[in-house]
Amino acid sequence: ASDGPLLEVRDAEVAYGAVTAVRGISLRVEAGEVVALLGANGAGKTTTLRMISGLLPPARGAVWFDGTRIAGAPLSGPAPAAPPVRSAPAERAGRVSRGRHRDAARQRDAAGQRDVPGLPVHRVTALGISHVPEGRRIFPAMTVAENLAMGAYLDRRRDRAETLRGLDRVHALFPRLAERSRQPAGTLSGGEQQMLAIGRALMARPRLILLDEPSLGLAPLLVATIFEVIREINAGGTTVLLVEQNAAAALRISHRGYVLDTGTVVLEGGADDLARDARVRDAYLGGS
Ligand code: ATP
Repeated sequence: ASDGPLLEVRDAEVAYGAVTAVRGISLRVEAGEVVALLGANGAGKTTTLRMISGLLPPARGAVWFDGTRIAGAPLSGPAPAAPPVRSAPAERAGRVSRGRHRDAARQRDAAGQRDVPGLPVHRVTALGISHVPEGRRIFPAMTVAENLAMGAYLDRRRDRAETLRGLDRVHALFPRLAERSRQPAGTLSGGEQQMLAIGRALMARPRLILLDEPSLGLAPLLVATIFEVIREINAGGTTVLLVEQNAAAALRISHRGYVLDTGTVVLEGGADDLARDARVRDAYLGGS
């Protein structure tokens, strides 16, 4: 554990081919916070989350989690030259398996080596970041229980008793999932699938959960439930980075927030200040 922020994104740029979606974003999330990432469609919110979870490499800048660089190059300070990964003598001679060799290279990445785009998603998850993507990517043919078990798979500390405690915690947050345990996940309602996607992410016992538009497409009553659950998840000790179109509701449960526009941070501050800010009200709160 480090004294700095739990998550820090420094001057990150992400491009899809010729399209630069994120242009020099810096943000931080302290342990224990709920931080909202707001902005119009296409502002770069989803891309930012995908970079943090290791799905997309930053072309520039870096992502740090709990003092470890998980993506991008260090911005300052000399880094020792990384040995060329594929030309180690032992490997050329066929004495070291590729897989083991790559694993060693990844450990060097985590220690702060240069010229590596970032850790793969499963390593980021194992460090304690779980990502709930937009559109609830659950496994529809598997049961609710099986979907939740998949979430526990990457928890390195897992043992049977821990997994069962995790399941109890998820069932306490979402009683509906307990009732529907043996049902194929594809038969759940949209709201229940969103609950399942969040529950599955929690089974990995993340320190930081990334939520992409959790309220999207839900009936108003369920929207309120989802935001209440996010508050409970945070009260239980999990730090939250929340992407939302529903700015008013997101700011009500957040400590701080960032507003993105065309790939840059245009506004940041305490949640109450942002909710009162005329620019946020006009653009995202319907001027109300
Ligand atoms: P939304 O709420 O619509 O998802 P967003 O703020 O999350 O918006 P992003 O999805 O991060 O925005 O998109 C940022 C920019 O990158 C947009 O201009 C978008 O068109 C572009 N973009 C996103 N995904 C791709 C892709 N796979 N290929 C090319 N361009 C993309």
